[in-house]
Amino acid sequence: MIEFKDVQKYYGDYHALRGITATIKAGEFFSLLGPSGCGKTTLLRTIAGFEGISSGAVLIDGKSMAEVPPNLRPTNMVFQSYAIFPHLTVEQNVGFGLRKDPRSVAEKQKAVDEALGMVGLKGYGKRAAHALSGGQRQRVALARALILKPKVLLLDEPLSALDKKIREQMQMELIKLQREVGITFVLVTHDQEEALVMSDRIAVMFEGEIAQLADPETLYRKPANRKVAEFIGTMNFLPASIVSEDTGKITVDAEGFGRIEINATQVSKANPGDGPSVGFRPETLTLLFDGQTASDRESTATVSEVVYYGDMTYYDVKLAGSDTPLRLSMRNTPGRPVLDIGAPTRVAWSAGAMVLFR
Ligand code: ATP
Repeated sequence: MIEFKDVQKYYGDYHALRGITATIKAGEFFSLLGPSGCGKTTLLRTIAGFEGISSGAVLIDGKSMAEVPPNLRPTNMVFQSYAIFPHLTVEQNVGFGLRKDPRSVAEKQKAVDEALGMVGLKGYGKRAAHALSGGQRQRVALARALILKPKVLLLDEPLSALDKKIREQMQMELIKLQREVGITFVLVTHDQEEALVMSDRIAVMFEGEIAQLADPETLYRKPANRKVAEFIGTMNFLPASIVSEDTGKITVDAEGFGRIEINATQVSKANPGDGPSVGFRPETLTLLFDGQTASDRESTATVSEVVYYGDMTYYDVKLAGSDTPLRLSMRNTPGRPVLDIGAPTRVAWSAGAMVLFR
C-alpha cells in the first residue's frame, strides 16, 4: 500500500536517501531501523509529505503523492516529543483534530471517548494534560492521531523518552492496538530489540540505503551481510578459511572449531575488504557441565568473562587455540553453578547454527 520507487533525497550536497525501493503492505507493523543519521526519519517524513524527495516516487494505495500536501494524505504522525498541549485537558487534546468536523458535539465526544478507550485512558478525559506521566502523554498523542482514522500511522521514535519498564509495556500495548485497529503502522526506531519485538517486517537502513528488508526472524537468523548481523542482536565471529566448495555445502577451517561444513543457504556477505568468517548467536553455543555431552560437536574452552543477569548468565569463553572471546548465554537453573573467570569448561555447538560471511 505504500511504495517507494527509487527514492532519492539530497539535502544540498548531502545524499540522505540513496535509491530506496520498497513496499509496505496494508495493515502491517513495519519498522525503519538503523543507527543515527541513516535516513530513517527522512524516509518516514516522505510518507507524511513533510519532506519532499529529489527524485523517484512515493505512492500510497497506488497513487503518487508528489502533488499531495501532508494534510490531504491518509497518514498521521506521532512524534517522540508528544507534541500535546499542556494547558488543555486530555479530551481537548484528543479532540483537537475534530475542531472543523461537522459532527455534533455528542458524536465528537463519543469519538474522543472511543479513542481514549483504545489507548487505555478511559476516564482520564477531564484531566489536565500537564499532570500526566510520560507514558500517559504518549497515549494521548496516540489517541489524538487515531481519532482521525488515518490509513497509516507514522511513529517517529514514540517510546524513546520513556523508562525501560514503561517502554516495554507500551510496546506490548502498541502491538495489541495495531492488531485491533488494523491500521498500517510505520515505526522509526534505532532500538533493534524494539523493532524485533514489535514488527511484522523491518527495513534495516545504513547510510541512506536499505541493507535488508525482512521479518524479524529472518533478520536474526539470516542477516544479509555482516553489518546487519552486528546491528541486530549479538553475533560471535571467528576468522575462517575456505577449504573446498561443493554444490550445497562449503567446507571451512574456523579458528578454534577446526573443520566445519556450512550449508550453502547459510552464506552471507563479509564487510568489504575482510576475509571470511563464521558467525553464530550466543544462544547456539552451550556450556557443558559435568557428565553432559554435546548432541552435535563440542570443544574445550576457558571462561574469560562472567556477567550475571539473574535469570541468565552471559559468559565469554575462549576456545582452545583461539584468542577471540565468544559470548554465550545460559539460563540459570537451581543447583547449576555460575562459573568463575579462568575456569576450564567445554562448549557444545553445531555447524547448522552458523553463517559463513565471505
Ligand atoms: P536519527 O535517529 O538521529 O534521527 P535518522 O536515521 O532518522 O537519525 P535522518 O534524520 O533521516 O536520520 O537524517 C539523515 C541525514 O540527513 C543525517 O545525516 C542528517 O544530518 C541529514 N539531515 C536531516 N535533515 C536535514 C536537513 N533538514 N538539512 C540538512 N541535512 C539534514
